[in-house]
Amino acid sequence: MTGDSAAERKMQFLFALRSKGVTDARVLGAMEKIDRGVFIKGHFAPRAYEDMPLPIACGQTISQPSVVAIMTQALDVQPRDKVLEIGTGSGYQAAILSRLARRVYTVERHRRLAAEAQARFEALALTNVTAIAADGSFGLPEQAPFDRILVTAAAEDPPGPLLAQLRVGGIMIVPVGQSDTVQRLIKVTRTETGLDYDELREVRFVPLVEGLGND
Ligand code: SAH
Repeated sequence: MTGDSAAERKMQFLFALRSKGVTDARVLGAMEKIDRGVFIKGHFAPRAYEDMPLPIACGQTISQPSVVAIMTQALDVQPRDKVLEIGTGSGYQAAILSRLARRVYTVERHRRLAAEAQARFEALALTNVTAIAADGSFGLPEQAPFDRILVTAAAEDPPGPLLAQLRVGGIMIVPVGQSDTVQRLIKVTRTETGLDYDELREVRFVPLVEGLGND
């Protein structure tokens, strides 16, 4: 029998991340501090510590913890960084980023999700992260450029406005491909002379959709 005390659950949660190849101590520390249970309400709340994506409001999903950890590790966030996330969803990924970066902006096309995420940041006293309701395909020009950009919805190509808002030396992680198939996680690095592309692994995300949602 596996135990179900909070401490044992946390140990199992972190063990699952390590076994999926998450080695960065800062990332593991942030994942330990931010309680995923706060980001999942209702029916699926008891499964918050399992390594699987789960449904949230507005027909969206909170990503699988090991995928959150692997994307965060690939982003290589530095303590002075200003980070942009596209696809706030529950706010879980943004909360993790807020423990690693100086400042985080996260953009969500569903106003309801952005508002609920913002309320969670405030309840957790995470004061360096802001959720904004907007179409994130255009980035956040008023706060650009960014040191790091993380897209948590799949685009057919990395959106041009996001590439344009990446500082020289900056890194963007983005799932690329059709929404109904397996997508590839791409790491884009802006150099002095252009953009470098690395393919990391296969992933599955909900699609990046244009325009604001109805709710
Ligand atoms: N990072 C989230 C999970 C992302 S699910 C978490 O930690 O819970 C992907 C999210 O991207 C969904 O909430 C979806 O509504 C949002 N999304 C899709 N297209 C978007 C767009 N153009 N701009 C902003 N958000 C978008």
